[in-house]
Order: sequence, then structure tokens, then C-alpha cells
Amino acid sequence: MRTIPVPREGESFDGSTAVVPGSPSVVARWCAAQGWPVHPLAPGRKTPVRNCPRCQAGRHDPATCPCIAAGRPCHGFHAATTDPALIARWWASSPSPGVGVACGPAGLVVIDIDAHQAPVPDRGQLLPGIRIPEGVRLDGLASGFDTLALLAAYRGQTAPAEDEHTLRVRTPSGGLHVWYRNPDTSVRYRCSTGSARHPALAWQVDVRAQGGYIVAPGTRTPQGVYRAEGTVRRPAVLPEWLGSELRRTGHVSEPRKNDVPASASPLTAAPPRRRPVFAEQIVEPLITLVAECAAAPEGTGFTEKLNRAAYTAGGLVGAGHLDHGTIRDRLVRVAHHARPWQQARNEKIVDDALAVGSVRPLHLKGRP
Ligand SMILES: [Zn+2]
Ligand SMILES: [Zn+2]
Repeated sequence: MRTIPVPREGESFDGSTAVVPGSPSVVARWCAAQGWPVHPLAPGRKTPVRNCPRCQAGRHDPATCPCIAAGRPCHGFHAATTDPALIARWWASSPSPGVGVACGPAGLVVIDIDAHQAPVPDRGQLLPGIRIPEGVRLDGLASGFDTLALLAAYRGQTAPAEDEHTLRVRTPSGGLHVWYRNPDTSVRYRCSTGSARHPALAWQVDVRAQGGYIVAPGTRTPQGVYRAEGTVRRPAVLPEWLGSELRRTGHVSEPRKNDVPASASPLTAAPPRRRPVFAEQIVEPLITLVAECAAAPEGTGFTEKLNRAAYTAGGLVGAGHLDHGTIRDRLVRVAHHARPWQQARNEKIVDDALAVGSVRPLHLKGRP
């Protein structure tokens, strides 16, 4: 059992280091000491550092990328590591990169509660799979804090946002990341976005797990700092009721044949299997078809093409080949460019198709 104290703001990792107290390099080393692979985020941002020019230009599989083998942080969470030497190198630069944690290999399930200004949907869409009776007043319900509290209340449990036994990180936009440890590595939880219909835990509540990463506490963006709340600095075991809810809402991937347990590859987020077919090679041509719909306002088969791209991407996310947040952003951006007047509809198509696709993981084992 590791007993490394978590640095609080202004505290250093331990007395022997020359790093700036509370700096990202301290956080990165602390995360790695917990067994959580880390990767650098672009300074001031919550997204990974850019790939090198070669990796930006070429579409190839992160698992076979020579950059990762050579210790360069290309391909976001695929490059994540617990190697102290690599971490020392990656976080030596200035301004210091923020810290991303690859949730899957870290065995983490993070509940990402949003408080975005958005119109509240119909009560049938607040808690997927649960009918909220008309008699229940929903005045004042405005965010993921409320929907998740409602779900917890239905189950007679403490709302995760109020769970003082686990690491909780306040985000600059007023959201909250509630960190939990997956106690059973044979169960693989998958990511979701709370604006999708399925799988989703609750409206404005995202799940970050296999195939995703989470911003570590201490990371600074122009909007503010990701700041740990209260005094607890370690993730508690995922509460049983929450595990059941994740299973009920389609967040559990069935174990695959020849699966490699997460604990077998502590040094890198990328699965050690070779994958000669690259996720990007499959999805990029489909995204190009969507982009080309910008040429005409109708009659281009836009919806079908967007559906197909997002569904396929969902399968690749479900299998851990693509990061959910990254590919969703890209699909939404391309869709908005082609059909800027129907942004809500674009997002709905993307979220729904990603969700349905991720239930059918697309494993890349050989050339088509
Ligand atoms: Zn590269
Ligand atoms: Zn590469």
C-alpha cells in the first residue's frame, strides 16, 4: 500500500525534490506514484499537447508509433506513462504542461459533473432509463449536480458530489470531478457524455474511464485551477450502487478474448498488442465525407454520413482505440462547419451514434 501524501496547493511532493511546490511536475510524479499513467496537456489547456509534425501529418496507429517507443508524448493518453525518467523530461519544459491521467490503465472511473448553462431537457431525458413521475417537482434543476443528486436520492445514497470520502476536484467552469477506483479490473467501464441518450448516467454528467483521460488536480488554465476539494486526496473504491448504475446505463464493456488486464502494463496506456490497422485510417475518410457536405446545404446525405462516421468512431472508442472526448469534438466541429444552422441536432446525431457504436467495440486485429 502506498502512503505518499498528496501534495496540496503550495506543498511540495517531498523534501528532497528541487521542483516548484505544487507544480505540475509534482502532481505528475504523485499521480505516477499512485500507479496512474500520466501524459502532458498543452500548457494552459485541458487537451493533450500537440503531436509532433510527423504524427500530425500521418495517420497511424499509436500502438506502433515510433514517437511513443522513443519516449515522446504524441497521441495523448496513448503515450501516458509512470516512468519517472520520462516524467522528469516531459515536465521539465516551461511553461509547464498540465497533467492528464489515462483513466483506463489507471483503474479510475471519474464522474464528471457539469454545470453548463443549457436548456433543461424533458424530464424523460434527465436520468436515462428512469421515469421521473410528474408529481416530482423539478423546479430549480439546472445542472449535473442536480440530476446526479436526484439519482442518488432515488437509490437512498449520498450524492457523489457530496462524497467526502473520495478525491473531488473542482473545475474552473464550476463542475466537479469525483474520482473513484475501479475495484475489479475484470470489469471495464467506458466513457460517456451526459448529453447523449445512451449510454449516459445522467444529464450533464460524463463518465471518464477506459479510452479517456482526466485532468489532474493542480492543472492551471486561463479560466482557473483544477483544485482538489476538502482534505481527501485519494480516490475511494467505486461505491457499489454507482457501479450498478453504470452497468444499468450501459457503461460496462464485456470482457474480450485475449484481453490484457490493465495491471499487466503499468508503464503505458497503450495496449501492448500490435494493431496493423489504424483507427484513424478507418474513421478519417468517413469524416472527410461529412466535411464535404459543406459544399451544399442539402441533398448530400449529411445525416447518414455523420451517423456513419460517429457510429464507427464509437466502435473504436469502445475498443479503446480513440479518445471519446477528442473524437467527439472533432466530429462536432466538422458537422458544425457543414451544417452551422443546426448545431444542437449535429451534437445529438454525434452523441447518439457514438453511444450506439461504442456498445459494439470495433477491435482492430488485421488489415481489412
Ligand atoms: Zn510523434
Ligand atoms: Zn505517432
